[in-house]
Amino acid sequence: MEEREAFNRRSFLKRGGMAAALGAAGLMGITPEASAKTGTYATLIDLTRCDGCKGEPMPRCVEACRKVNESQFPVPQEPIKDLWPQKKHDDWSKKKHVIDRLTPYNWTTVQNVQVDGEEVFIPRRCMHCDNPPCANLCPFGALNKYEDSAVVINHDLCMGGAKCKGVCPWGIPQRQSGVGLYLKIQPLPAGGGVMYKCDLCHDRLKKGMIPACVEACQIRLGEGRPLFFGKREEIRKMAHARAKEINGYIYGERENGGTSTFYVSKIPFEKIHARLQESKSPLLMGKVQNALDEVNRWAKGFLFGPLVAVAGAVGLAFYQRSKERKGEK
Ligand code: SF4
Ligand code: SF4
Ligand code: SF4
Repeated sequence: MEEREAFNRRSFLKRGGMAAALGAAGLMGITPEASAKTGTYATLIDLTRCDGCKGEPMPRCVEACRKVNESQFPVPQEPIKDLWPQKKHDDWSKKKHVIDRLTPYNWTTVQNVQVDGEEVFIPRRCMHCDNPPCANLCPFGALNKYEDSAVVINHDLCMGGAKCKGVCPWGIPQRQSGVGLYLKIQPLPAGGGVMYKCDLCHDRLKKGMIPACVEACQIRLGEGRPLFFGKREEIRKMAHARAKEINGYIYGERENGGTSTFYVSKIPFEKIHARLQESKSPLLMGKVQNALDEVNRWAKGFLFGPLVAVAGAVGLAFYQRSKERKGEK
């Protein structure tokens, strides 16, 4: 089947433009709930089963992700120029070995925190949100949400402005300077580089394969593994069944307006979030706000602002008329 964009920036703008034309954001409903589209697939990440691949040189999921995506990794043009007009740039090309955080060369990472005396390992990568603000708000339309659930950055279009990172509640996309389209478009108006993140192994899914990280975890642990991938509704049911079994909690089902990644934990996510905060991790796990809520509020303000102004002008005119009638000045 020909892949179609489930929901992208262009359709968002079309909807927004139509709403403006109708003069009624409320009627069009530019809300995360109204525009969210659940994709076909989802991932279950069962934190009760992940041991961080202890004893191995690198978590198998991380190793598999790096291997399968190596051909997509950036090769910057030296010397790397600063991000105009700032006097800095992002360069991870000399730190490719870093695996304890997300980078343009490391699209998944496994966090480790102690909660109530228990060690918790947390595999992290893009959540592949149902209504991704990163895709909907990228000024260059460089991200798309696909029907298979994947939210993918087009590295040929990305200008590295990092808007996607700014509007992602988890700050997932990571920038490498010295690569990309902007090098050909000088002087650059913003950004400088290309953003990188997990693409849910979109190309593998097209071939009927599962994500490389899930496959690697499965090879190591079989049915007792923490990572499962499949049809969204089945994964959602698995997540709920597992949460019920362990009297635990789910993260990712509702966060950011819904995602296609379901975490299950017997430890409340608020506690995991608190430990991550204490460890000064930039990748947290707390309550989040969808950036499109803000856009929606702004759109309503923009559309209803003139109505408020007209109502105010009518009110003022009425007040002045009544003052004149009373002979007041
Ligand atoms: S998710 Fe699987 S492969 Fe990754 S660290 Fe946990 S056990 Fe290892
Ligand atoms: S987790 Fe962040 S980068 Fe991934 S789809 Fe959601 S908003 Fe975009
Ligand atoms: S789904 Fe693919 S790109 Fe994403 S973390 Fe797993 S291996 Fe990496």
